[in-house]
Amino acid sequence: MDLKDYIRVIEDFPQPGISFKDITTLLNDGAKYRQAIDELKELVSELKIDLIAGPEARGFVIGAPLAYALGVGFVPIRKSGKLPYDTIEIGYDLEYGKDTLAMHSDAIKPGQNVLIADDLLATGGTISTSVELVKKLGGNVIGTAFLIELVDLNGRAKLDGIDVFTLLTY
Ligand code: 5GP
Repeated sequence: MDLKDYIRVIEDFPQPGISFKDITTLLNDGAKYRQAIDELKELVSELKIDLIAGPEARGFVIGAPLAYALGVGFVPIRKSGKLPYDTIEIGYDLEYGKDTLAMHSDAIKPGQNVLIADDLLATGGTISTSVELVKKLGGNVIGTAFLIELVDLNGRAKLDGIDVFTLLTY
């Protein structure tokens, strides 16, 4: 079976009209989870990455094992109020709702090459806010990596030509 066969699609979650791509069924299978991370690692193998940043919570599930596989550090991007040290914060719109993302103000040093990873690219609100946070600290966003891209929502348009690496598309 393809990796895509391990993604469970739930209609009308978390609200009517949303076709939710549930990755927990992929995460549940050790061999397939590893395959997904290995394939993402292969996709970004040409990049010189210093750090991977990922937004909570599913960005951790993809970004942290990818960072481990590449032997680079991981920077958590969190919802407001969760990080214990000084933060920078930016508000944004979601596919459904609004939120604020935060990052420790010393997490990235100017000039470091940062790959931003998440499970899924939809409207691009989450990732473009993550890009803004990294840039605000002087980081160089060298690409974005996703397990899944919802192509019709055209989240790429919000990324201003930053490279997008995706394993699966819908
Ligand atoms: P965007 O900000 O691009 O509109 O939405 C992407 C963010 O919302 C990602 O952080 C992702 O985890 C979450 N998200 C939105 N839709 C889905 C979905 O169908 N499945 C999963 N797993 N996450 C989603």
